[in-house]
Amino acid sequence: MAYPSENLCVFIFLCQGLSIRKARRSALGLKVALVALHLVYAGILFLFDGDLIEKTKHEPWYTSLYLSLFVDTLVQYFVTSGSSPGYVLDAMRDINETNVTFGKTSASSKQPASSKNGSLVITIDSGQSGRNSPGSNATYWTKRVLDTYPPGTSVRTVTCSYCNVEQPARAKHCHDCDRCVLQFDHHCVWLGTCIGWGNHCKFWWYICEETALCLWTGILYITYLKTSIARAWWKDAIMILLLIALAICLIFLLLLLLFHSYLVLSNQTTYELVRRRRIPYLRRIPERVYPFSKGICRNLYNFCCVPNSTYSLELLPTALELEEKSRPYTCSHLLSCRCC
Ligand SMILES: [Zn+2]
Ligand SMILES: [Zn+2]
Repeated sequence: MAYPSENLCVFIFLCQGLSIRKARRSALGLKVALVALHLVYAGILFLFDGDLIEKTKHEPWYTSLYLSLFVDTLVQYFVTSGSSPGYVLDAMRDINETNVTFGKTSASSKQPASSKNGSLVITIDSGQSGRNSPGSNATYWTKRVLDTYPPGTSVRTVTCSYCNVEQPARAKHCHDCDRCVLQFDHHCVWLGTCIGWGNHCKFWWYICEETALCLWTGILYITYLKTSIARAWWKDAIMILLLIALAICLIFLLLLLLFHSYLVLSNQTTYELVRRRRIPYLRRIPERVYPFSKGICRNLYNFCCVPNSTYSLELLPTALELEEKSRPYTCSHLLSCRCC
């Protein structure tokens, strides 16, 4: 039985995940369309609204602030669009390179490769280096990946059949990008890129700025329509039509912002939330348990403050941790800040 909230999530996910192969080719066209749409909305406002021009002369800070938000939003859009969502292949290469450095250090200090510390070090030829092709030196990566799953998970079940690399928990292959993405959220057609571990924060800021810009533009449009100065009817008609479209966009953006804020606070992704029953390692976890959540404060800190260069593979909770997470909240939990 589908819950109403779940239907909403499915709706948002479908809207976000509406990705077709053609979108990849027309990514540039979409970017141009988005910039043009912004320019049309702001341009018509400044073209029609004489009061706003007058206000700009007397209170330039007001218009400057609006234009700053306008430019910031577009910059954030392009920054997010051009950022890497965090590809599994890149993470594997980085970890392997670190492993090579560590391996060389271990070799020079003549420590046995089978030592406890060395068990994480895979001995490879120095000639291979970390820039080897996917598949080679996979043992170290494989071990790290398998550590993220419950014991007994086989390599075959976690290997992507398209990239032929082992996916850590929370990663998924994106058919539009044709690569596996760490902490995959969704493939965004408007941005022309995946949203994942590497750029989810940038994406959140983009929708936050876009929502603010949409809201401010809407207020300026309403202010224009409310003034009782005589003007051509078609100007009003254009403004009303644009305002209706803007209101629809604003509702969608607000929902999206709320939805992603919820995901951030509970350390989930859109994909995990919507496809939870189809993800083998999440299927048995109770619905109300957030398996990767470390508490609201920690989740927020990891989301905002951990730099992109420090990727750590997230482990699935043990049976004991799951039991702890599934216990209902009591007053003592609130006092001990269980959520933090
Ligand atoms: Zn893949
Ligand atoms: Zn993608």
